[in-house]
Amino acid sequence: MVVMTDMGLRSDPEAEAEAECERCGKILPLCVCEGVTPLKNRTPLLILQHPQEQDRALGTARLTTAHLANAVLKIGLSWPSLSRAIGETVDPQRWGVLYLGSVRPADLDPEREIIAVDRRGEAEASQTAVLRSLEGIVLLDGTWSQAKALWWRNPWMLRCQRIVLNPAGPSRYGKLRKEPRRDGLSTIESAGIVLSRLDRAPDIETQLLAGFDRLLERYRALRRDSPEFDRAENRRVKRPPGGARSAVQRKRAAAKSKKRAASNKPEGG
Ligand SMILES: [Zn+2]
Repeated sequence: MVVMTDMGLRSDPEAEAEAECERCGKILPLCVCEGVTPLKNRTPLLILQHPQEQDRALGTARLTTAHLANAVLKIGLSWPSLSRAIGETVDPQRWGVLYLGSVRPADLDPEREIIAVDRRGEAEASQTAVLRSLEGIVLLDGTWSQAKALWWRNPWMLRCQRIVLNPAGPSRYGKLRKEPRRDGLSTIESAGIVLSRLDRAPDIETQLLAGFDRLLERYRALRRDSPEFDRAENRRVKRPPGGARSAVQRKRAAAKSKKRAASNKPEGG
């Protein structure tokens, strides 16, 4: 890469390693954009990403939108309405949002991969009709707590049709990602399931998963071949104590250790 400095132009191998793809936002060794042709999905997709989503190596929001002609990624914490978030007038009641509440999809209907649920978390009576009436899908991108924050900060989401996923298999992330995520799936896997079923276009899921597989392959190869990248990823995954905890968890932990100190008992004793 050629870098402009006070001294003029120079070649900089370090900057080369740090350079990012404009399309997927990943460092070049992790970019799998080449050969990605956007698919013409019928059901529009809106991805809302928490501004503190940190997983730049394995995050898949931008890769998802690169794969889809009809998809928008917005980064932020809150939007006054769905229409404002997406930039056109839409009816939130006709849009589906991936629900974060405590529902066990397999208990509702083990046969279905997408289930529309009502406000009590029970399966809607006419699944086919409800799912067919959906005019768009909202996905929340980030850790579990970040997705929850997006949910509570955007009250218009309460008016959207809640859907839950009951994926046939586990996430392809496997053990790569240690932070808890909504239903354990990546954004690109969730988008693949929802859009391919709603559009009745299996190719959408096939293509998205192929893109995701390429990313995971690059990621594993980079960790294997670049000790520096591997160290950085290890540091990121193993956060300092308290780093990945919520404020409530930290408070509880502090109260617990205070109590322990007062009774002078070892933990678990
Ligand atoms: Zn790229």
